[in-house]
Amino acid sequence: MTTDLVYHEVFTKHEISPGHPESPERLRTAMKYIDGAGLLKAGDIRLVTPEPPDLSEIYALHDRRYITDIREKSRRGGGFFTLDTAVNAFTYEAMVLAAGGGIGAVDRIMDGKSNNAYILCRPPGHHAEYDSALGFCFVNNIAVAANHLVTKRKLDRVMIIDYDAHHGNGTQRAFYSTNKVLYVTMHQDGRTIFPGSGFPDEIGTGEGKGYTVNLSMYPGAGDKSYDVVFNRIVEPLAKAYKPQFVLVSAGFDCHFQDTLTSMGLTNSGISMMNRRIKAIAQQNAQGRLAFFLEGGYNLDVVGSASQNLLEELCGREITKHGESHSESDICTRYTGDLVKVIEKNLEGILL
Ligand SMILES: [Zn+2]
Repeated sequence: MTTDLVYHEVFTKHEISPGHPESPERLRTAMKYIDGAGLLKAGDIRLVTPEPPDLSEIYALHDRRYITDIREKSRRGGGFFTLDTAVNAFTYEAMVLAAGGGIGAVDRIMDGKSNNAYILCRPPGHHAEYDSALGFCFVNNIAVAANHLVTKRKLDRVMIIDYDAHHGNGTQRAFYSTNKVLYVTMHQDGRTIFPGSGFPDEIGTGEGKGYTVNLSMYPGAGDKSYDVVFNRIVEPLAKAYKPQFVLVSAGFDCHFQDTLTSMGLTNSGISMMNRRIKAIAQQNAQGRLAFFLEGGYNLDVVGSASQNLLEELCGREITKHGESHSESDICTRYTGDLVKVIEKNLEGILL
C-alpha cells in the first residue's frame, strides 16, 4: 500500500497579496499536522516532488495566451490579474507544478506504482476558466488530470466529486458536453456565495447531458445532509456510472468553522465522505483515487482535515474528530427536496 503525498516548496511561495486568506500558511499548517502525526515516517506515505508537465496538457484546458500572460507577469515579479487574483514571482512555477503533480500522481496510480494520492497544492484550481483566473485559481489542476486520463490513458469514465463549499465552475465548463467525465458537486447555494453558479438544472449538454450534477446546498447544511446526498445521489450515480478513476476536489471550506463560507460539516462528516469515496473507488475503479486540495481557509481545519484524509487513504484510523455541531431542520428538509429534484432531472440517464 502506498499513498503519494504530492508537495513542493514553491506551493508556499505563491501569494495573491499579504494577509490574503488563500495563504501559504494553509499548506505549512497542513504539513505541520501531517508531520506531527508521524505520517511521513510511517513508510506507507511517500512524499513526492512534482515534475512540470508537458505544457500541451495545460493548453488542452486553457488558452495559451492566458498562460503566457501569467508566465510573463511572474517573470516581471508579479502583477494584478482579475478581481480576486494576482500573481507574484512564483505563481507560474507553482501552478505548473501543481498541474504536473496531478498528472504524475494519476499516472503512478494507473501504472500500479501507488494506490492513491493527495495533491497538497496551491494555487487551487476548480474556479479557473478557459482564459481567465478566478476565485484564487489559475490552472484547473483536477480538470487537467481528468483530461489526461481520458486523452492519454484512454479512460472512458472518470468521476470527479467536488465537496468544496464553492461551485467548481471551471470544472463544470471543461466537461459540460462529455459523458467521459461525470462531475458531481456539492456546494453552498450560488444565490448566497461566489461564484453564483451550480444550480440543479445545470446538468450538461449533448452527450454530456446528465453527467454534470449540481447539489446546491442550503447554507448551514452539514453531516446529516451530506449523508443523505451520498445515500441518494453520489453512491447511486457511482454504481450506475462505474468510474474507472475517481478524482476529488477536496475543499475544506465545507467545514463549519471556515472563515469564508457557511456550510456545516464537521471533521467527522468530511471523513465520512472520504471513506465512502474511497469505497466507491475500490468497488468500481480498482481503488484508483486522487484528492486535490482546493479551498479551506481555517488553518487548523486545513491541517486536521488533511491529516484525516491521509490517514483514510493509507488505511489508518482517523485521528481528528469528535467536534459537536449539528445542522438546523430547515437544512435537512431542504436537502430532502433537493435530492428529489436531482433524481427527477437525471431520471432515465444515470438514475
Ligand atoms: Zn471553496
